Amino acid sequence: MTEVPEHLASAIVSIDLAALCTNYRTLCKQAAPAACGVAIKGEAYGLGMAVVAKALWNEGCRNYFVSRPSEGAELRAVLADAAIYVLDGFYLGQAEFYMHHKLIPALISIDQAQEWAKVAAGRPCAIHVDTGISRLGFTVAEFKKLFGDDEFIKLIHINLLVSHLACSDEDEHEMNAKQLAAFYKFRKYLPDVPASFANSSGIFLGGAYTFDLVRAGVALYGGNPTPGKPNPMKTVVTLQAKVMQTRHVKQGDTIGYSATWTAPRDSKIAILGAGYRDGIPRKLSSSQIDGPAQVYIAGSRVPIVGRVSMDMMACDVTDIPDAEISRGTLAEIFGPHISVDEAAASAGTISYELLTHLGNRYHRRYIGDES
Ligand SMILES: *Cc1c(COP(=O)(O)O)cnc(C)c1O
Repeated sequence: MTEVPEHLASAIVSIDLAALCTNYRTLCKQAAPAACGVAIKGEAYGLGMAVVAKALWNEGCRNYFVSRPSEGAELRAVLADAAIYVLDGFYLGQAEFYMHHKLIPALISIDQAQEWAKVAAGRPCAIHVDTGISRLGFTVAEFKKLFGDDEFIKLIHINLLVSHLACSDEDEHEMNAKQLAAFYKFRKYLPDVPASFANSSGIFLGGAYTFDLVRAGVALYGGNPTPGKPNPMKTVVTLQAKVMQTRHVKQGDTIGYSATWTAPRDSKIAILGAGYRDGIPRKLSSSQIDGPAQVYIAGSRVPIVGRVSMDMMACDVTDIPDAEISRGTLAEIFGPHISVDEAAASAGTISYELLTHLGNRYHRRYIGDES
């Protein structure tokens, strides 16, 4: 990832590794007796895979889930001894790469399982089964066809049975119990293989959902795994943009592209150094006088005003004394005062998208980095 020194950056991402580790321990406790593995795909949801992976390894994490084989190889270079699962399954011609980097594919179809048994016999793999999300994985019929056959089981070394929940963030949703029941239909064919079912929210659905190994993602990084209830996780990521300029506008003046926001009174506006190129959703734009989307600056929440543009955005700081804001003052876009979930909701999206879209023009600061 590009390194931008602090004095050259217009915005700063701070990643609190101590909070990350606290979250990991919280999830371990919640998931116990299941082991806690982590989803570290997408640069650890935008936080930086290598730093996050090492911090979690030092905390005792041994099982890592990525999406792409290239992510797996990158992780292998950092963690020589971790179990690295690749959720994509694999395309024809990739088996060598998987073997070379000691990656464990989560196989999703009969042909993939047959290929793996042929070219990588004896090397561990996971089997991904579909219990209702209808994305990747075996159907029960396919599973039965393959694993109802004792001969085939001898040819393949399966060390994990994986499935994924569609609605775990809604604890009352009927899909959860339906998927759990479906998972047992697969498990009966491979009763001795360890099972992995729960993502972050799934860990909070109760002991029936955790099985042997959970796959924690967004909760590690501070997202609330129990929406609608208090967030049991600590804030890990703080995004702050520097004030580039403050300006005084007259009642009736407009701010930004398309003149969508009109000052209802003489106003003071702060222009902040982050825009949609930096992953600030353009949906945070506001034409309302008191729009719902806010930033936190000089001890107050203030509304975002006008369009978010490529490199900057504006907020209304009329009520903040001049002495408290100047060039370089930091405004929190999300962090301890405005949660990543709140900022995401204001933009009509989810914390996952906000985090994974953070760009590469920030100064990144890791707090509590011991590596
Ligand atoms: C991303 C992912 C996870 C982690 O999900 P969170 O909701 O972030 O905890 C777990 N399992 C699979 C298959 C995934 O793709």
